[in-house]
Amino acid sequence: AHLDRIAATEPSVHAFLHVDAEGALAAAAEVDRARAAGEPLGPLAGVPVAVKDAFTTRGVPTTSGSRILADWRPPYDATVVARLRDAGLVILGKTNMDEFAMGSSTEYSAFGPTRNPWDLARIPGGSGGGSAAALAAYQAPLSIGSDTGGSIRQPGAVTGTVGAKPTYGGTSRYGLIAFSSSLDTPGPCGRTVADTAALHTVIAGHDPRDSTSIPQQVPDLVGAAARGGEGDLSGVRLGLVRELSGQGAEPGVAAAFRDAVTTLTKLGAEVVEVSCPHFEYALPAYYLIAPSECSSNLARFDGVRYGLRAGDDGVRSLEEVMSLTREAGFGPEVKRRVMLGTYALSSGYYDAYYGQAQKVRTLISRDFAAAFEQADVLISPTTPFVAFPFGQRTDDPYQMYLADLYTIPSNLYGGPAISVPSGLADGLPVGFQVMAPTLADDRMYHVAAALE
Ligand code: GLN
Repeated sequence: AHLDRIAATEPSVHAFLHVDAEGALAAAAEVDRARAAGEPLGPLAGVPVAVKDAFTTRGVPTTSGSRILADWRPPYDATVVARLRDAGLVILGKTNMDEFAMGSSTEYSAFGPTRNPWDLARIPGGSGGGSAAALAAYQAPLSIGSDTGGSIRQPGAVTGTVGAKPTYGGTSRYGLIAFSSSLDTPGPCGRTVADTAALHTVIAGHDPRDSTSIPQQVPDLVGAAARGGEGDLSGVRLGLVRELSGQGAEPGVAAAFRDAVTTLTKLGAEVVEVSCPHFEYALPAYYLIAPSECSSNLARFDGVRYGLRAGDDGVRSLEEVMSLTREAGFGPEVKRRVMLGTYALSSGYYDAYYGQAQKVRTLISRDFAAAFEQADVLISPTTPFVAFPFGQRTDDPYQMYLADLYTIPSNLYGGPAISVPSGLADGLPVGFQVMAPTLADDRMYHVAAALE
């Protein structure tokens, strides 16, 4: 049924870069066989899922939205993908994204944008716009994304779906094509908080193949969401972050946020205002740290090891092959980030830019620590504006970067954060963000589920 739905809606939505009908039907048949044989099955066995094209899938095309990886078929599965398969989920295909996860609209995909099912003239968010649009278009009930600065939560917000960024290190990065290694976090997307918690449980947990993976047990996320769903938040302190409440937000977004806060208060939660004075510098710090790490990570795309190779039409030096390949294979936003990052890391500028940004990152983490002394979770709108029309923010990178104004702080800190639908502004979905302390992913699900 989901493959039929994909066939019917893809011409207008374009959420997928690759639909793996054959693989999906084979995986579904295997679940049927195991069920008939009476073999034990996990709670999500047989449920279809779509996977962001940033994750490697053995033998199945994986591009990370880039021309430089067109036609690449990886020889291995990412840990997240392997866990989906082991749990019996049925992978429908790979979803569209901004090239190498850099962007907030999918307009930087090398293979054309995804359209928002709510309004086909508008963006579905990014970078994981395909994973979010697939849910909103009922092409898949679950999907996987990756969140470096907001790429799960912002697409969730603008498509009226749920997206969670787990604690950094709570989900394995093995096989997630690296953008910014100290920030990249695989995570679950769903249409409800309960579904999202169930998917999160399948993909989370320690992985010895990722040196930053946390060797600790995953808390009971499904139980936490179920408790929240009962609608009792008495004793929960919600920290309203002064620096993220309304600043730069469209009036409709600010109004929907206030309504959601009122709802949570009626469920017994107490609202305390907290101040995080360094959040103001989160966006500039992120746009030094992320490009710096990306300039190093993307050095591997050199025309020798993977995908595209340009300059095969004559006798050329190695350096010429590399620069012709990168010239042809990378899009404009990726080139911008590689140049920014290379500059910020160069000797003479390192301390002034990269070093300074790392210090700001520490100050932001301290702001979180202080705020969590006064509140159990922090709350804000997910993004300052609703889905915007195509082309509105592509001419000015800074306007695009503003989409992640409210999501970036928790990436720099490392704690979990989720976006839940909370009403409409001008007929378009608005997201509500719940941020929790590192490793308290269960607390985030508890509060988020109460909003549904
Ligand atoms: N939009 C942000 C960026 O362009 C975040 C991307 C992400 O989370 N992958 O870097």
